[in-house]
Amino acid sequence: MSEKMQALIDQAEADLLHTYNRYQIVFDHGDGVNLYDTDGKRYLDFVAGIAVFALGYNNREYNDALKAQTDKILHTSNYFYNAPAIEAAHRLKAVSGMDRVFFTNSGAEAVEGALKAAIKYSYLKDGRSDHEIIAMEHSFHGRTYGALSVTGNPAYRAPFGQMPCDVQFARYNDLDSVAALMNDRTSAVILEPVQGEGGLVPATKEFLAGVRRLCDEKGILLIFDEVQCGMGRTGSMYAWQKFGIRPDIMTTAKALGCGVPVGAFLLTEEVAQNSLKAGDHGTTYGGNPFACAAVCKVLELYEKERIVEHVRGITPYFEQKLDEIAAQFPCIQERRGSGLMQGLVFDRPVAGIIQDAMDHGLVLINAGPDILRFVPPLVITRQNIDEMVSILVPAIERQV
Ligand SMILES: *Cc1c(COP(=O)(O)O)cnc(C)c1O
Repeated sequence: MSEKMQALIDQAEADLLHTYNRYQIVFDHGDGVNLYDTDGKRYLDFVAGIAVFALGYNNREYNDALKAQTDKILHTSNYFYNAPAIEAAHRLKAVSGMDRVFFTNSGAEAVEGALKAAIKYSYLKDGRSDHEIIAMEHSFHGRTYGALSVTGNPAYRAPFGQMPCDVQFARYNDLDSVAALMNDRTSAVILEPVQGEGGLVPATKEFLAGVRRLCDEKGILLIFDEVQCGMGRTGSMYAWQKFGIRPDIMTTAKALGCGVPVGAFLLTEEVAQNSLKAGDHGTTYGGNPFACAAVCKVLELYEKERIVEHVRGITPYFEQKLDEIAAQFPCIQERRGSGLMQGLVFDRPVAGIIQDAMDHGLVLINAGPDILRFVPPLVITRQNIDEMVSILVPAIERQV
């Protein structure tokens, strides 16, 4: 590492709150599926800023759209209308099949809004103010208090005392464990159609269909958190669309702005008409013209470049290559995931493998200590996959 990069890292460690143990790299710029650090070293990126940069870095049309919007106006206020938000909402409705949109600045904020909408809906229905939410073990919904309250990782919640929502945790893909927690206080069930941070675990169709049926029978709302698995990552625009099981409320973020911080929660007309009213919820930045210009261009490029079809087309090759790696090393227990959201589950910590791959120009991350996570830009090619394998296999050989 150059003295210049080391100085930047030292400065960061002196100034930033240390809430991350960061890899010792300062990234400078990106191009396609490649990242470059401040020393000019190239890395093949199979993280995409954690499932964010779906279109790859430095997409000319995307960059130009942001520059054009910068020269017009960056921000107004939600007390006024703006054309990019109107177009973005319309496009998002069309690709999601949901009826109403509220733009946020992040995934966690989308989850916050989804929970507030559900609780308000239940409150208007039965007048109670002691509603419960059912969430899943090993889920991840974000770090703010509401999102944390439904996050199924006790270690994340433990130091922070009383949570704002009364939450019960069921076992993922275990319908009986969900049914057992439902009662007349239950407002909603929240789950990720593919668990991301929790270890790349897809829900079964039977589980999703079963939860939908139970919710319908008991008048309970179903919330899908598509912040990580949405936006085409699993081969359909939203993961639930593959199964035809529509939620009442849905969240989306990560790839929605492809780098501009933006998220959204979406509702059915029924929930929208009977939950949050004027004055119940708001945001200064959410849905501003700059963020929404990004959303518009992202959704336009998804259509033009047939991103979702590309994911469906490339997935079998990606899975085959990962399966070959899994078969080659006894310390790998399984490959699991969906589309371009995959994990290799090891019987030991993967930190050494990630560091080794990084040293040799491949960016990967983990999901929990023992799982290698692959959430590459959605535009990856067979060639990119082959290069990834050619760096990863020797890294595993050296480290296990
Ligand atoms: C990343 C993530 C979030 C939180 O999004 P932030 O933008 O980090 O607040 C919520 N839910 C899921 C499923 C996620 O993967």
